[in-house]
This record gives sequence, structure tokens and C-alpha cells, in this order.
Amino acid sequence: AGTVDTHVEELGRIDAVAGDGDHGIGMQRGATAARQAATTAYGLGAGAGTVLTRAADAWADKAGGTSGALWGSILRALGTTLGDQEAPSADRVAAGAAEASAAVRRLGGAEVGDRTMVDVLVPFADTLSAATASGLALAEAWDRAAGAAESAAAATAELLPRKGRARPHAEKSLGTPDAGAHSLALITRAVHGVLL
Ligand code: ADP
Ligand code: MG
Ligand code: MG
Repeated sequence: AGTVDTHVEELGRIDAVAGDGDHGIGMQRGATAARQAATTAYGLGAGAGTVLTRAADAWADKAGGTSGALWGSILRALGTTLGDQEAPSADRVAAGAAEASAAVRRLGGAEVGDRTMVDVLVPFADTLSAATASGLALAEAWDRAAGAAESAAAATAELLPRKGRARPHAEKSLGTPDAGAHSLALITRAVHGVLL
């Protein structure tokens, strides 16, 4: 939520290049509501799964827009996979990221190459799974996956949109990364800072 606050204007500007310019404000509404819901649940003693599920519902409810529904599905998939057990393993977190990636593709119907957050979510989840399977600890594996997310987000600048609101203005967006891909990469990097 703090990272989204810092980047609200940048995300709005990127979305305005070929979309409707509301990505910063929508992400801020969603992340703020999710933070409040998570803080309340955590204060009542809830485990990771319940905290994430409450955050998911709040995000989807308050954010509006396509990305709000998709971020709700990301947090819900993570929460459902982690459950409320103490200290889930790195492999389980990687499985949660894979579930989140599948949930977004199911709900939004986009695939890799369509110039959406899927272009970041898929390499992020794949890199995290490979890194944890090779025995890396969670923080190190996440660092590697966040690096893959950042490269993938930058690479969306060269893709033409085929899904979402940006589609009618396809060629205008060349040279600018996709807004939802960029915000997802920023968030994975911020989460790494908390895992250390
Ligand atoms: P809206 O498009 O409703 O204004 P936002 O501006 O908050 O919502 O989010 C736009 C972002 O959502 C895009 O940059 C893209 O990354 C993502 N997005 C849009 N449609 C899809 C989809 N079908 N699947 C995955 N991601 C999508
Ligand atoms: Mg928008
Ligand atoms: Mg909109």
C-alpha cells in the first residue's frame, strides 16, 4: 500500500497513455482498503490465509476497475493456498503465486503477450517456483522472482495491447510499459523488502 501511494501519479500517467488514467487511484483505493482489512484481521489473531482473504475482498470491493477484481483474485488465491498454518514453506508460497497467476488468467482471459499484468505474473510465479525448487530460501527466491518481474514489466513497452481498455489505442502505447504490469512489479519488489 505504501509503494502504491508513492507511485499513484506515475501509474495514472502510464495508464493515461492509452487507457483511462485511473490505474493509480484505483490501486490506491484497493491497497488502502486491503491494508485496513488485513490490519483488523491480524489484530484479531487471524492467520496468513484469513488475513489475505479479508484483504482480497476489501481490495476487489473498493478498488473498482479491471485491476481491482484481478488483484482481489491474486490475494484470494495466495490466501487459499497458504491457509492459516504458521510459517508456510517457501514451496507453498511459490504454489500460491502459481495459483494467483492461474486465477488471473482464468478471470481475465489474457495470456502472455497480450500486454497486461499477466506478462509479469507468469514469469514472476515461474521464477519463484524454480528458485524455491532449487533450494533457495524464500527471501532469496523472491528477490530473483522480483527481478524477473521488473524485466518483464519493462518489456511490455514493446508489446501491443490485445485485452482491456487500452486496446483501441494500441499503437499509442508503444514505448510505455503496461500500467498493471508495472504496478505488479513494483509491489513484488516492495514485498521482498518485508520478507528480509
Ligand atoms: P481499468 O482498465 O478498468 O481502468 P485499471 O486502469 O486499474 O483498470 O487497470 C488496467 C490494467 O489492468 C492494465 O494495465 C492491465 O495490466 C490490467 N488488465 C486489463 N485487462 C486485463 C485482463 N483481461 N487480464 C489481465 N490484466 C488485465
Ligand atoms: Mg484504467
Ligand atoms: Mg477504469
